[in-house]
Amino acid sequence: MSPGGLGEFQFIERLRRRCKLNDTLVRGIGDDCAVARVPAGELLLTSTDLLIEDVHFRTAWIDMYDLGRKSVSVNVSDVAAMGGQPLSLFLALGIPADLSLEDLDRFTEGVLSACRDYGAVLAGGDTCRSPRGLFISVTVEGAVPDGLQVTRDGAGPGDLVWVSGTLGDSALALRELLAGRQPPEECFRRHHDPRARVKLGYTLAAQQFASAMIDISDGLLSDLGHILDASGCGAVLRRDLLPLSSAFLQFQKHQPEVNDLALTGGEDYELLFTSPPKHAEALRALSTPDLPRTEVGRITASADGLRVIDAQGRPCMPTRSGFDHFK
Ligand code: ADP
Ligand code: MG
Repeated sequence: MSPGGLGEFQFIERLRRRCKLNDTLVRGIGDDCAVARVPAGELLLTSTDLLIEDVHFRTAWIDMYDLGRKSVSVNVSDVAAMGGQPLSLFLALGIPADLSLEDLDRFTEGVLSACRDYGAVLAGGDTCRSPRGLFISVTVEGAVPDGLQVTRDGAGPGDLVWVSGTLGDSALALRELLAGRQPPEECFRRHHDPRARVKLGYTLAAQQFASAMIDISDGLLSDLGHILDASGCGAVLRRDLLPLSSAFLQFQKHQPEVNDLALTGGEDYELLFTSPPKHAEALRALSTPDLPRTEVGRITASADGLRVIDAQGRPCMPTRSGFDHFK
């Protein structure tokens, strides 16, 4: 790599100077391994995401600063979905020779700003030259109090299905970008700078409200499918209850077909969780974090499969269900 003539070790040194340690990190960038403590009584959570130019992002559409932030947020979202808090991030980069130093700086600026937002530190990584395109691999380590981790396999018949925030905004933005049109600003921001719902995730875990949880990266139907597979259950979703942003609703007035995106569109990074009905009142009353939570359906016996109905109870399943890299 040599963006602006910068060598690998100069790049690492520039990064190192801007990264601090925190209470759990004993040694960060600059040694053979990062050295960290797991807080007493907590379990270590680890997750990795890979972002490849022209597969996950296009540099023509996303600003490098946003790309840095998004690389961190999509990864931290997995920790949020277990009810944990992120501690350390690891960043492995394959950098093409034609990436300018200015763009690389904006990217790392975005990475560090998102780390700060989530109270995590950049603790290490790897840096290589890429013969073509930018490769970004981010690994997050987080922690959750032992026993409070929320997995995908805990849903049971009768549990209510909830989602945070609004659905479909990111997919609506992608649809418009792919068609060569400018998306509504609110959707564009959601697509390029999604926020991981860390506070909500750990609040749900701490209160033991959620029986199963996942973050919505591939679409509501697809990700609910993962909970149902793991839990051995079915579910019925009420299409008319799906939470939609004002920008999405406005857009849908003229192009009603985009409504499917609330069920099938990826990259919302909202939390999808199930909860026994006895917690419904307390869940609605949760004042912190200040984020909408909407009840969208119910878990049923596995023989029922996954059904989508309208307010009158009529079936209304979209034809396409979610994103799959191999299809
Ligand atoms: P090694 O040869 O032992 O793999 P490196 O020279 O690759 O060591 O890395 C030196 C230090 O810099 C390590 O602490 C590593 O974690 C860190 N590092 C390298 N690349 C990055 C990066 N892109 N982001 C954060 N830390 C990095
Ligand atoms: Mg290395």
